[in-house]
Amino acid sequence: MNDSTKPRPPRAFPLSLERLAPAAQRAPVPSRQEPAGGRATPVAAAARSVVAKAPAGVLLRPQRPLHEAAQDRARHATPAGIGLDSELVRQRMVQKLRALGVRDEQVLSAMQRVPRHLFVDTALANQAYEDTSLPIGLQQTISKPSVVARMLELMLGGRGPQPLPRILEIGTGCGYQAAVLALLGRQVISVERLKPLHDKSRELLRSMRIDNLRLVWGDGMLGHGPNAPYDGIVSAAGGEALPPAWLEQLAVGGRLVAPVVRGGGQVIVLVQRTETGFVRSEHEAVHFVPLKSGTT
Ligand code: SAH
Repeated sequence: MNDSTKPRPPRAFPLSLERLAPAAQRAPVPSRQEPAGGRATPVAAAARSVVAKAPAGVLLRPQRPLHEAAQDRARHATPAGIGLDSELVRQRMVQKLRALGVRDEQVLSAMQRVPRHLFVDTALANQAYEDTSLPIGLQQTISKPSVVARMLELMLGGRGPQPLPRILEIGTGCGYQAAVLALLGRQVISVERLKPLHDKSRELLRSMRIDNLRLVWGDGMLGHGPNAPYDGIVSAAGGEALPPAWLEQLAVGGRLVAPVVRGGGQVIVLVQRTETGFVRSEHEAVHFVPLKSGTT
């Protein structure tokens, strides 16, 4: 399906919120303000039932809310005339990602759907679909689209349209990648150590009504034990080494992708867990914010 000679247009996600669940069943984005090692309740029952019924690849209920949120925010927050709520702007971004070699149709479809401009500061919204990282406050950055795509492509490993059962993200930041992940997995946990960023992304993601995503305020170096093991783990912050908890919480058959310090820079490291152990490979050089321990 990843035929490099015949690129296909991104797959449409045709279901609307209403077709998946009546309004009364909608649940807000759950949040746990607790250390990552602490207890977390399972995904809301409503979310579970929706996810169970949803066809593969159609896991983010709010096709319509995402779009509505985009329109609302664009009306209030973006300079007139930019038209960032337009599908076309994102289509161009996805075309550029294809040109840069991204082949995974699931990743491309998800990035086509998530309104990246809503996750950055109004003043930066007109750069949201350029292939550039942008500041999100507290000295943190949203990764550039090509790096997000590459990391997620590595995490999926060409598995096709079947969603990953459980994904852990370390470093929620502004919540953009978490929203993309919610389209790629049945259940997504995203951990952020900085409370203001956790709170801000929770508010935005709540407005998008993404039911299969749980945000946790905690130290992601500890992973998130209560929902382990994970079929995919992706870190948006790079440390000197991979924290042991991530390897422990990786399911057999699972794939972990993280930036790790190498020499004066960082490289993407992929770890695949097999029946007998871990297979590690190193990929391109990257530049992520540092992985830090503790919460603040
Ligand atoms: N995926 C994010 C990228 C945010 S930048 C996005 O789409 O915006 C990386 C984030 O990792 C920062 O917000 C930083 O605070 C967070 N981080 C760094 N170390 C962490 C840790 N130990 N646990 C959780 N989050 C961490």
